[in-house]
Amino acid sequence: MTGVQPSDVPSDAKTLDSSLGTIVGGGTAKELANAFGMQTIADLLGHYPRRYALRGESTDLTRLIVGDIVTVIAQVVSVTESEMKNRPGTRVTVRITDGRDTLSLVFFGKGKNGTRGSQNWRTRELSPGVRGIFAGKVTEFGDQVQLAHPAYKLFDGDLEDLDEVVSDPKVKRMLQDIVPIYPATAKITSWEIADAVALTLGALGPIPDPVPEMLRRDEHLMSQAEALELIHRPHTATDWQSARDTLRFTEAWVLQCALVQQHTQAKERHTTAREPVPGGFLDRFDAQLPFVLTLDQQIAAAEIAVDLSSTSPMSRLVQGEVGSGKTVVALRAMLAVADSGGQAALLAPTEVLAGQHLRSITAMLGENLAADLMPTLLTGQLPAAQKRKTLLRIVSGQSHIVIGTHALMSDNVEFFDLGLVVIDEQHRFGVNQREVLRQKGATPPHTLVLTATPIPRTIAMTVFGDLDVSTIATLPAGRQPIESVVVPLDEHPSWFFRIWDRVAEEVALGRQAFVVCPAIAPKLVEEGELLAESENAATDAPARAVASAPRVATRPGQRAGRGAAVPDEHKHPINDVETLIGGMRQYRPLAGLRIEPLHGRMTSEEKDQTMRAFAAGDIDVLVATTVIEVGVDVPNASVMVVMDADRFGVSQLHQLRGRVGRGGVPGLCLLATYAKTGSTSRERIDAVAATLDGFRLAELDLELRQEGNVLGDSQSGDRSSLRLLRVAIDGELIARARQAALFLIGGDPALRTEPVLRQAVERRLNDNQLTWLHKG
Ligand code: ADP
Ligand code: MG
Repeated sequence: MTGVQPSDVPSDAKTLDSSLGTIVGGGTAKELANAFGMQTIADLLGHYPRRYALRGESTDLTRLIVGDIVTVIAQVVSVTESEMKNRPGTRVTVRITDGRDTLSLVFFGKGKNGTRGSQNWRTRELSPGVRGIFAGKVTEFGDQVQLAHPAYKLFDGDLEDLDEVVSDPKVKRMLQDIVPIYPATAKITSWEIADAVALTLGALGPIPDPVPEMLRRDEHLMSQAEALELIHRPHTATDWQSARDTLRFTEAWVLQCALVQQHTQAKERHTTAREPVPGGFLDRFDAQLPFVLTLDQQIAAAEIAVDLSSTSPMSRLVQGEVGSGKTVVALRAMLAVADSGGQAALLAPTEVLAGQHLRSITAMLGENLAADLMPTLLTGQLPAAQKRKTLLRIVSGQSHIVIGTHALMSDNVEFFDLGLVVIDEQHRFGVNQREVLRQKGATPPHTLVLTATPIPRTIAMTVFGDLDVSTIATLPAGRQPIESVVVPLDEHPSWFFRIWDRVAEEVALGRQAFVVCPAIAPKLVEEGELLAESENAATDAPARAVASAPRVATRPGQRAGRGAAVPDEHKHPINDVETLIGGMRQYRPLAGLRIEPLHGRMTSEEKDQTMRAFAAGDIDVLVATTVIEVGVDVPNASVMVVMDADRFGVSQLHQLRGRVGRGGVPGLCLLATYAKTGSTSRERIDAVAATLDGFRLAELDLELRQEGNVLGDSQSGDRSSLRLLRVAIDGELIARARQAALFLIGGDPALRTEPVLRQAVERRLNDNQLTWLHKG
């Protein structure tokens, strides 16, 4: 039954949307669902091999090389089962021979809940005299080579029957030259997945193509059917390589079509146009603005004004460096909405930032406008009585500007007329959370997302493909440049003290300093990082540390994921806020300075109070974790010291640096590190020191950090939804796919002429990892 060829397609041929259970066994289907969330044939066929192993013909037992994947045809000589010494479970050792030499196979059986975990069935199956074909990886145990947990297929009869044996599909695959290796689990092995895929490919009817033929020809793609066949069952390396190219483009194509279509549909929804009135709030604000907007600010403002005056809801991202003046631009949008009688909600990622926004917005508005618009803060920390009052102001429409944390999203918050949602620092909110807030409007509110992380073009297209983008590239005139210096503590340990001398000098000039550490207390990493495993939802904890710098969440000795490995040279203890403060307070040149901590283990009240004191100049040196990363604005701060700079992401360092040089004084950023000259970590820090161009650093960051962190966890609160696409390297391909998608959907928004593509787009949208796309 397993050997069904594509030519004899059964009449009840399956489609990509058929449920897996109709083809593979119920147990396998269940495991595939548990392990990978697979439901349909499309899900299984989209589970591409992670890599391909080469395997020769049946291997000679005398020539086994450790690490090789081999296949041997042999006979069982003996089998023994023994209990393991150190943990529950047994070890089955099987000796096999090919007539010339012998080899051991071992199988470990795990005992559950302290039981012995007997493998009786295996010792029975592999009894002496039994013949079979065994395939697995050669490992070393003591001075012996062995195969641990090989896959095997037993057969009766003699080796004379080998032809018959070899024609068995499973054996055939064992002998196949190229073996696909799938992402697998302990419960469902790569072999079993390959089996399931083979069954599926055999039972599948014709596979329609989501890429229109013209585009396929332009891109030199193979058909879907061929690509799916060859990525799973290649005969040569070229097979799977070309199949991958085709499927990679297809992925970009379907995703771009989904995004472009969502964008188009979002535009089709109807909402209330929000226009300023002459002499209204916005006019009054502009009249009292103490500076002229930069050209970029004016362009962004004009783009927003056009969006707001339309009856289709705005979905716009404003990106610009810290201090480029995004907040002013957003505030003007809020005032336009207030002019039309509506309310605006500003969602900030932390209480500190929400509090700061309230203060700076109130200050920017000035007394009269503030009295009229009643900007209000709503956070989870409000005492009950005050909270009631605040909620009342919101629901009555008295407050035109509501600033808050995720508390804004809770059910009991009702708006009188929510016309605009401004989201500060997109990265820390799951997209679903933005949606909750958006649903609080009677008509869909306009949405403005602000981000200080420059977004490389490919990410903008891939992750924010459903948003329009405004870019504020220039900083307001008169900003002082920031000097960045790497302090190599490995080569010059004594420079540790120079850092503090420099800090003391700045404070003597009447300025203030930030010191950032990767940890709060010895060995205790910033609490936000504990969220790494969880859904990384919006919380008041600095979860951003996780989102943008996987290496921060990793303790020495542990390894971070691909490309972001913790440097091996990290043998010294990590600098932490508590220890460092202790040391600084003892250091003579810093005597008399007001040095205070700020980190995620303090209560919101404490944090807020500390920030306020720092902003007021009552604290000279703030020793903090990355809580201060986003948005904190203290113009008098002139020095930013980052300890163990190698533990932070490139973009994160750039963001931290943006905290200084905001007033009239020149900024200095000291990046202290123990990473050795020439090491990758050191190169990253050098790169940050060498340029102030946030876009270049963002591109670099993208190349360095895990894709999953770019697209998955940090953006949508889910794991990465891309399979073959890599935003860091597939930029051009994504751009071509987007271009083609814009062209097609421009002429056929509902994809009426492309039913197969429409289905593929729907499949993509149904994928629960991308449900947010629905919400446009
Ligand atoms: P962002 O939100 O992008 O970090 P802000 O809007 O908070 O930047 O602006 C940073 C600082 O620069 C604020 O003090 C703001 O008043 C000031 N500012 C904004 N735009 C201008 C401008 N065009 N000219 C001078 N100062 C500006
Ligand atoms: Mg700001």
